[in-house]
Amino acid sequence: MDDQVKNLKICIAGAGMGGLSSALALARAGFQNIEVYELASDLGFVGAGIQLAPNLARILDRFGVWDPIEQESTGIKETSIRDGATDNELAHVMMPDIRQIYGFPHGTGHRYSLATGLYEGCKKYNAIKFIFRTGISSVESWSPKPVFTVTPRDGEPYTIEADILLGADGIKSATRTSMLAHLKVDAEIVETGQAAYRIVLDRKDMEHDPELLELINSDGVTRWIGEKRHIIAYPIQSKTIYNLSTVQPDNNFAEAPSITYTTKGSKEVMLKVFEDFCPKVQKMLNLVPEGEVCEWRLRVYAPLPTWVCGSVALVGDSCHATLPHLNQGAAQAIEDSAVLGVVLGRLPDVRPESINKALQIYESVRKERAETLVAIAAASGRALHLGSGAAKEERDKQFAALKAAGGKGPVPDKWADPEVQKEIYGHDCTKEAETAFQEQFNKL
Ligand SMILES: Cc1cc2nc3c(=O)[nH]c(=O)nc-3n(C[C@H](O)[C@H](O)[C@H](O)COP(=O)(O)OP(=O)(O)OC[C@H]3O[C@@H](n4cnc5c(N)ncnc54)[C@H](O)[C@@H]3O)c2cc1C
Repeated sequence: MDDQVKNLKICIAGAGMGGLSSALALARAGFQNIEVYELASDLGFVGAGIQLAPNLARILDRFGVWDPIEQESTGIKETSIRDGATDNELAHVMMPDIRQIYGFPHGTGHRYSLATGLYEGCKKYNAIKFIFRTGISSVESWSPKPVFTVTPRDGEPYTIEADILLGADGIKSATRTSMLAHLKVDAEIVETGQAAYRIVLDRKDMEHDPELLELINSDGVTRWIGEKRHIIAYPIQSKTIYNLSTVQPDNNFAEAPSITYTTKGSKEVMLKVFEDFCPKVQKMLNLVPEGEVCEWRLRVYAPLPTWVCGSVALVGDSCHATLPHLNQGAAQAIEDSAVLGVVLGRLPDVRPESINKALQIYESVRKERAETLVAIAAASGRALHLGSGAAKEERDKQFAALKAAGGKGPVPDKWADPEVQKEIYGHDCTKEAETAFQEQFNKL
């Protein structure tokens, strides 16, 4: 890499999954001057599980950080989709050959483990500097050099000039807000009408009960579904924790005037939401300590007209927030970072026009794919949450056919559908980016 290119000042807003992985991808590509501004005082990740799909694992392996994350993860070999009320199994899909097909397993892990793995990877590079307790407030200029304002939690705002700015500042992205205002376009907020409780149970609270012990000892993901609601659950952290993530109608946030995303929930309300679910589920929800119920608003934006303006690009949830039903949000943020590492790493010079071209190629490789997965996640949620009517009958016929065929065939729960998995897990975004850069850079 040319010395001038190497020394480009790249600033990143947000040290979440997209920000950490972008910093790492760029340091590995050879960049020497990377600053990450994070609003929070530390990585402060919510204690919850995350699915680690093969497309995510492949990138982390190339980044040199997969091994410790895999060691703490559970390799998923099967999934069971069950009726929430009766616990009857609607479908059982075996996934024994994911590693053989895609080169990496499908794991489940702790978000902390994923974030720490990425952070430890970043710390090996002097090129990356973290500035915590400092959030980006607005972007003042987009090109030739981005200028933006940051505000330390305990200090006065100041402005920074960079060569490239990446807005990996999540669903509430200030970078996106500034970009859309500058472009004079509206990002339509899609009220999904859904909210989620994220729950982690300790092994010691489950192991006295054979039914619950079987769940935490399994290598499986279980989804209990009902009208407008479901629960997905799996073991994490070397099976010391059982993770549950629910989805239910958003009653608490719907009326919220502000852009609130998490709130302390009430255990009583949570139990009420799932009161008609089976005793096994009830037992687990009852284990949640009083005062530790946390509810998340699930909100997304309609596809943005662009992710790039001048030398600024959006990354991760800031440009493709998704419902969690496909378990691909973090994976897609990490795919963004891998592509950025490729296209910026191939910059022939430091001209703002070249930077913009590279970012345009990033968008061309990533936007359609990420938005397609956001749409599949939403459609899968709709199918899972059907209550009655012809569409539900059709879905249940598909479940019955799947069961009769020994778990082989189309799966209404799209994350477990082998054809969808082929599209998602088989995609190598790094290779796509290399080809796209070669084909497009000189033509733009
Ligand atoms: C219930 C639920 C379950 C999920 N399950 C999965 C799963 O199984 N698999 C999966 O791949 N994904 C899953 N996801 C999605 C995944 O968590 C997100 O898509 C992913 O974290 C997005 O990464 P990000 O870096 O874009 O945003 P985030 O991880 O949210 O990071 C954004 C960061 O920016 C910081 N920040 C915010 N504003 C500013 C600012 N102005 N200046 C500086 N910093 C700022 C924040 O503090 C944060 O650290 C799930 C999401 C939910 C809600």
